[in-house]
Amino acid sequence: MSSADSRPGAAERRVLLADYTTMRVGGPARMVTAGTSDELIDAVRDADRSGEPVLLIGGGSNLVIADAGFDGTVVRIASEGTETIADGADVVLDVRAGEPWDALVARTVEEGLSGIECLSGIPGLVGATPIQNVGAYGAETADVLESVEVFDREAQRVRILSAADCGFGYRSSIFKHAHRYLVLGVRLRLAADGRSAPVRYAELARTLGVQAGDRVPVADARAAVLHLRRSKGMVLDADDPDTWSAGSFFTNPIVAPQAVPEGAPAYDAPDGLVKTSAAWLIEHAGYGKGYGNERAALSSKHTLALTNRGGASADDLVALAREIRDGVYGKYAIELQPEPLLIGCAL
Ligand SMILES: Cc1cc2nc3c(=O)[nH]c(=O)nc-3n(C[C@H](O)[C@H](O)[C@H](O)COP(=O)(O)OP(=O)(O)OC[C@H]3O[C@@H](n4cnc5c(N)ncnc54)[C@H](O)[C@@H]3O)c2cc1C
Repeated sequence: MSSADSRPGAAERRVLLADYTTMRVGGPARMVTAGTSDELIDAVRDADRSGEPVLLIGGGSNLVIADAGFDGTVVRIASEGTETIADGADVVLDVRAGEPWDALVARTVEEGLSGIECLSGIPGLVGATPIQNVGAYGAETADVLESVEVFDREAQRVRILSAADCGFGYRSSIFKHAHRYLVLGVRLRLAADGRSAPVRYAELARTLGVQAGDRVPVADARAAVLHLRRSKGMVLDADDPDTWSAGSFFTNPIVAPQAVPEGAPAYDAPDGLVKTSAAWLIEHAGYGKGYGNERAALSSKHTLALTNRGGASADDLVALAREIRDGVYGKYAIELQPEPLLIGCAL
């Protein structure tokens, strides 16, 4: 990432968005950095009043931004702070949107708090976690989120949305693909007994040497998740292009049971549907780990991650994603959907 002056409160300035995204793509834009909730509201309100398009950016780890950049105002979220609201058998935390997510996880695990340990190693900021109901290893934001403080750009006021209001689903919520709400902070309820939430994910249980449903010390759960994630290139590393991605590029498709190809995994999903594995489909459609070219390729450790090997443009990455999506559709008639938000570009 760049050394550009993006200090909170810094005046609007021209930046290259590639310096602010983990995929390292994105052209020029005007950026304002907001260091408090009030600054965030002011920046968004000012832009809305003048009819300027707004792009909110946190850690830039779930974004693919066009090489042409963004024609409008980019508001970079940098409002930090955590407040303990209740401290008993459960600990309730109010966390500002600009707090780095994994630092929060590390801190709560150190304090023996349980609920987000399986979400270790995910980049980005706290305010983005409700956007796609961030999830991994059998846990998701919705498990611990009590409410979200938002600025409602339509009603022009601050509101508290309960978890039920957020419409959480698999990598989705009312916030994703919508522009109405600016997330100012989240309220999380964590348990204080030092034991992890029941381990739900089979691979994690195997790594920990326990049965699914068992509970382990929270620090053990975090260590095992980080170990698994590193082995898949899913922990950002500035020295390793295998991690220069937006995480999983495609969501796991939710389809009718009869649409699942023979041999592909199928897990129960709501409404009689099943969730199958995007990674399985991609691999079996002929796109193995490392597929691509010297600029844009699948991670050599993880089929689902499209990586910038250095020097890739957004066009390069989008072309690779399109090729894979079309190849999977051609073989299995299942259309993969991108998980990151595409800004100024489309598959
Ligand atoms: C190596 C790697 C591994 C990953 N692993 C996972 C994983 O296991 N599970 C998972 O779910 N995701 C994963 N991700 C994706 C990503 O890290 C998460 O989605 C993360 O929550 C994005 O946070 P961010 O701050 O970087 O958001 P950004 O990429 O900056 O923004 C994402 C979207 O949210 C919007 N947004 C951001 N902040 C706000 C706000 N305060 N209010 C309103 N809108 C906002 C943005 O406008 C944009 O549309 C991974 C990414 C990488 C690079």
